[in-house]
Amino acid sequence: MQRIKKNAEAVEKQVAQSLIKANRQKSEVQIIVVTKSVSVDDTQAIAALGYHHLAENRPEGLQLKQEAVTDPAIVWHYIGSLQTRKVKQVINKIDYLHSLDRWSLAKEIEKRADHVIRCFLQVNVTGEESKSGLRPEETEQFLSDLQSFNNIEVIGLMTMAPKEADEEALHKTFRSLKQLQETLKQKAFSNAPCTELSMGMSQDYPIAIEEGATFVRIGTAFFEE
Ligand SMILES: *Cc1c(COP(=O)(O)O)cnc(C)c1O
Repeated sequence: MQRIKKNAEAVEKQVAQSLIKANRQKSEVQIIVVTKSVSVDDTQAIAALGYHHLAENRPEGLQLKQEAVTDPAIVWHYIGSLQTRKVKQVINKIDYLHSLDRWSLAKEIEKRADHVIRCFLQVNVTGEESKSGLRPEETEQFLSDLQSFNNIEVIGLMTMAPKEADEEALHKTFRSLKQLQETLKQKAFSNAPCTELSMGMSQDYPIAIEEGATFVRIGTAFFEE
């Protein structure tokens, strides 16, 4: 599909520019294509272009896309809040969870997972009331408590920047997540290597890459008209 291909070229160009600006390598940033708002056809089209990291934010959407896109090379990401009662339905079908944000969810994952689940702790960096995520000051204790769990590996931190943030505020938000990630990594908790940063969406991924994102989650920029 011409539209998606053109969009993908524009994203690649922007990613390349941001990498140069930050003096980083292409291999350091994994693009995740967020397919939550698009059809099965569009999802198949993006996979056919070689994008193998796909993200959904609802159990129904995940199931629909997984039934349609059966290439074993696809790596499935779950983003957005996950209700505890839905854990059973999704947890063994995904490769990464980006929204570990509370103890009750961790407990349910520990109980239902049949293998180690790679998770990002979702952090509410700016403290917005409306947003889910742990407060930065809660994260260290949370990781310490998680050490008794066998099925959860915290590979890093995830955040969503405020929609209305200007460039300076975005830099600040992403930079503080990076600082927190480095602090937590140094604690060397047994099941939390905490080396990764999931940050940056269509609106703000260039800034996130400049600030050290290792996974960017991009939807609209791939699929818009
Ligand atoms: C929808 C969503 C994205 C992608 O947003 P776009 O603005 O479409 O790029 C990324 N992360 C999360 C958690 C989302 O819910």
